[in-house]
Amino acid sequence: MIDSIMRNPFLHLRDLEDLTLDGGIHDFLPPWQKDSALHKFVRFVADDLLMSDSDGPTRVRFDSDARHPEWILPVDAAMINYGITSEPSFLIPEDPTPKVTARSTLPPQHEDPHFVENACYEHLLELRVSQAYGELLARIADEVFFVMFMNRRALANLNKFLATHVDDIDPSFLEGEDRELAALFVDEGELKRSRPPTWARRAVFYRDRGRCTNCAADLSGLVDSFPAANYDHMIPLARGGLNDVTNIQLLCERCNLRKSDKITHPSNQYRRWY
Ligand SMILES: [Zn+2]
Repeated sequence: MIDSIMRNPFLHLRDLEDLTLDGGIHDFLPPWQKDSALHKFVRFVADDLLMSDSDGPTRVRFDSDARHPEWILPVDAAMINYGITSEPSFLIPEDPTPKVTARSTLPPQHEDPHFVENACYEHLLELRVSQAYGELLARIADEVFFVMFMNRRALANLNKFLATHVDDIDPSFLEGEDRELAALFVDEGELKRSRPPTWARRAVFYRDRGRCTNCAADLSGLVDSFPAANYDHMIPLARGGLNDVTNIQLLCERCNLRKSDKITHPSNQYRRWY
């Protein structure tokens, strides 16, 4: 599951637009949330993967009794794997539809040819509002964040996607329904600049190893360890970029000035660990 999200987070999504529909994008607008854009995105992808079963339920084997194997849903397997629960919340029922034979005269007990799918789906709907399910999504988001935060290009792609939706927001339309959201904007499709807090500057400083991601100038000897001038919005605010820890990178002041409001590919030169 984690692997498939990491390999290509956009691949599985049939309904990526749902993320931003019906004001979904509004959750991303408040500046510098520790629950970053990537956390929100991963929860959305994981939820989509866990809840979608186009060809009937995906089965994971649960017990070790070879003669009477029990089958559970991937969501239960994941919860047990993370230690959120110890027992599955649901066993996939057997298909009770009797085999139709030429001699059979009895009417079938179950008219519903989708009995198993429907039983699983109903269970998932119930499970989806549980606290355990929320905890599962949070654990998956933390795990994916841990690895993906290193990958500036992947983060820039996510922010570029979100920016296309921020870009469409006209704050004067928001005024009536949500003054607080409208106040975050400086102009149509452009959020106000907001200084990254220390935790965000520290995280990005250590991720980028204290060097300009463009020219590798060493920024660690500066008097102020995390000067705000060295933090660049990969997707500029003027282009719908977010004030989010996943949207900033270290640049020296010279490179930052030169880049200005352009969208450039973040460097894919990663420094060796040793
Ligand atoms: Zn530089």
